[in-house]
Amino acid sequence: MNANITDQIQADLTDHAEGTKLHHTKTKRLAKLGLIEADGTLTVTGQQVLRETLDADQAEADAQTEIEDMAADELADAKPVKAKRTRKPADLNACHCGCGATTRSLFAQGHDARYAGIVGRRVAETAPITADTPWLDAEVSRHMVGCSDALIRKAIRVAVNHRTKLAKRAS
Ligand SMILES: [Zn+2]
Repeated sequence: MNANITDQIQADLTDHAEGTKLHHTKTKRLAKLGLIEADGTLTVTGQQVLRETLDADQAEADAQTEIEDMAADELADAKPVKAKRTRKPADLNACHCGCGATTRSLFAQGHDARYAGIVGRRVAETAPITADTPWLDAEVSRHMVGCSDALIRKAIRVAVNHRTKLAKRAS
């Protein structure tokens, strides 16, 4: 398009074509650029510029509508995600066995037994030579504060059995 045709001139030409009465200096400028005849009718160039102006306006309006549609779609998509309830991280504890899993209680599913095994074996392995069953019992209990009696008994059994196994291996 002619570099002399500014947005303002396009706007003036559009107004003129639509029958809006322009200030005479504006009409004069349109005539000088060869867009309109002396009697006000659009020249071939004027018609072409007007068509291009209207096409550009329509393209801009289409683009704007598309952006608005996309924003509306995004909003519609986002809604169910927002509505979905997410558990607060504060509600979750790290599994007590040390596996790194998170849980709503002390242990992840099945990891209480795993922890009893871990504690039992560790106590057996670190126990002094002179350690007897009451010593193992006390040491296991010390590591399992907050655990159920059944779980503590299980860990003690693991410790005693593991210690027996280690003693056999050593002899
Ligand atoms: Zn665990």
